[in-house]
Amino acid sequence: MTAETPAPGLRKRAGAPGRDLTRPAAPEPLPVAIYDNHTHLEFEDGVDQLEPLDSLAHAAVVGVRGVVQVGTDLETSRWSAQLAASDPRVLAAVALHPNEAPRLFELGQLSAHLSEISRLAAEPRVRAVGETGLDFFRTGEDGREAQIEAFETHIEIAKANSIAMQIHDRDAHDEVVAILTRVGAPERTVFHCFSGDAKLARICNEHGWYMSFAGPTTFKNAPALREALAVARPELILAETDAPFLTPEPFRGRPNAPYMLPYTVRRMAEALELPLADLCAQLAANTERVYGSWDPEEAAA
Ligand SMILES: [Zn+2]
Repeated sequence: MTAETPAPGLRKRAGAPGRDLTRPAAPEPLPVAIYDNHTHLEFEDGVDQLEPLDSLAHAAVVGVRGVVQVGTDLETSRWSAQLAASDPRVLAAVALHPNEAPRLFELGQLSAHLSEISRLAAEPRVRAVGETGLDFFRTGEDGREAQIEAFETHIEIAKANSIAMQIHDRDAHDEVVAILTRVGAPERTVFHCFSGDAKLARICNEHGWYMSFAGPTTFKNAPALREALAVARPELILAETDAPFLTPEPFRGRPNAPYMLPYTVRRMAEALELPLADLCAQLAANTERVYGSWDPEEAAA
């Protein structure tokens, strides 16, 4: 590959007072290699910085062989596309985050930014539009129209490029489902950091939408998530870190990175009462079905 690796440390995670910033120890390697289908390597977090290429190397050691690097605005989307073009362990997703859309709309920049996302989405190693969707937690009533407009345009971009879509859905399950059924979802649609219950999992099953489980699946106070996981059709299950956020138990609040994914996957296997190797094989197959091959030669064939 000829593209240059983008500079690390584009973003810094805001610190909360009293947060433990030391990096958790690496887990036991997985028996079958999988992928982290949603991560943000552009973030610096913690006392010992992990640069993107080191982070990918640490992940590979524990059986996380590749990642989908996800953009949330133009700058991080360009960065993601560039990293994917320069490293065979990375595929990219590009989008304007639902909390970005209202801000850009106010500035009169939303459509210009969406056109640039559309241009990036055509690049060969950009395999998803995301994260897009609705966030009614951080954005109030006044921002909803811009979020909906941006979400619908992202859906069109994913369809036009025949690539997957990663949905960010926070406190907006009904509205997300309503828009997807009204305008028609892209063929491969993923609920990133699935936060629904068994009811939403059944709706996803019905439509063939993928459910990506993250760190909260390990949280003691999240039995509804594990119920959803148990209901989900096995061929629709994915796993992700959403690093540097949502660190799995017992390391909640500490810096997260793709090498931490095995902690979540082990808890998923336990909840599903499945042998770990079987779950990993299923996850790897599902992930490649959604995003295609990470291997540049196979993808070009
Ligand atoms: Zn994310």
